Amino acid sequence: MTDKMLAAVFEGVGKLELKDVPVPQITKPDQVKIEVEAIGICGTDVHICSVPPGYIATPGTILGHEYVGRIVELGKSVSHLKLGDRVVVNPNDYCGTCVYCQNHLPTLCENIGAIGIDVDGAYAKYNVVSGKLAFRIDDSVPIEHGAFAEMLADVVNGTNKVRVQPGEYVVVIGAGPIGQLYAQMFKASGAGKVIIADTSPYRLEYSRKMGFDLVVNPLEEDLKEFVMRETGVGADVVVDAAGSVLPVAVDIARKGGKVVLFGVNTHAKAELKQSEITMKELQIFGSWLANGTFPAAVKVLESRKLDLDGLISHKIPLTDLHKGIDMLAKREAMKIIVFP
Ligand SMILES: [Zn+2]
Ligand SMILES: [Zn+2]
Repeated sequence: MTDKMLAAVFEGVGKLELKDVPVPQITKPDQVKIEVEAIGICGTDVHICSVPPGYIATPGTILGHEYVGRIVELGKSVSHLKLGDRVVVNPNDYCGTCVYCQNHLPTLCENIGAIGIDVDGAYAKYNVVSGKLAFRIDDSVPIEHGAFAEMLADVVNGTNKVRVQPGEYVVVIGAGPIGQLYAQMFKASGAGKVIIADTSPYRLEYSRKMGFDLVVNPLEEDLKEFVMRETGVGADVVVDAAGSVLPVAVDIARKGGKVVLFGVNTHAKAELKQSEITMKELQIFGSWLANGTFPAAVKVLESRKLDLDGLISHKIPLTDLHKGIDMLAKREAMKIIVFP
């Protein structure tokens, strides 16, 4: 008889089912088996579960991709980890052989297998992945902080592109968990001012609670006026964590400024004056997932420099996953951590 475990399985449009499934087994020598300790609910999970879906997952897949756990079994060829190690996981399994992987751009791999979207993920007691995706994290880091590793690795990829200098003025548009991490990372790097914009009163209030006073709701106040008043000439760096505000970002960036496009909204079609980018000599960066940035994210987590406890609005058991996803869909939560 095979052992069973409770898991959240995506069964097709709008259907996420909590049900018993067989405990996964190691089938390849490079794999590790992880006992999952905590998982963050991601906005992507919300998009996958909404009707119509905002993001496509493969039916039959266990969701959950932002997780931390302990190694309970090792494949024969895994030598960089040992039993009992706590690890965080890069959920984007790259092939290692396509032209991008061979050019050290695994994020852009042509054969990516997304754990928790197309390959079984972590809303369950156990998960089996290739050992190359698992990064050891020190036991001194609280379990629930480990669940931020994936998001943070993605954010570090974006912050690496703009390299904020001490004193610079930054605007973060979109004050969800990703925007909050960007804001905290910029503050930690010495930004002179961090301005946060969002249309959700809950998220703006949350930003204030997290110690950011320069918050603005563009529905109530002219964003450009606000930014010009605070920066004089426009922002040195703008992050679009919403995925749909490129024209706004271009408008509020100073001449020679930088813009990071992070959020993903596949329906967004930007209408803007291209000449503005040319004449302002703007640098615009796309930032997609983590690009070799898990080791750095682990170091940031181990440094305990970020206020992650403050970002956790709810902690719930796996059996309450549907409630958690609903709360996030209504934007009535910041980060929700799930315990299997
Ligand atoms: Zn995610
Ligand atoms: Zn590849």
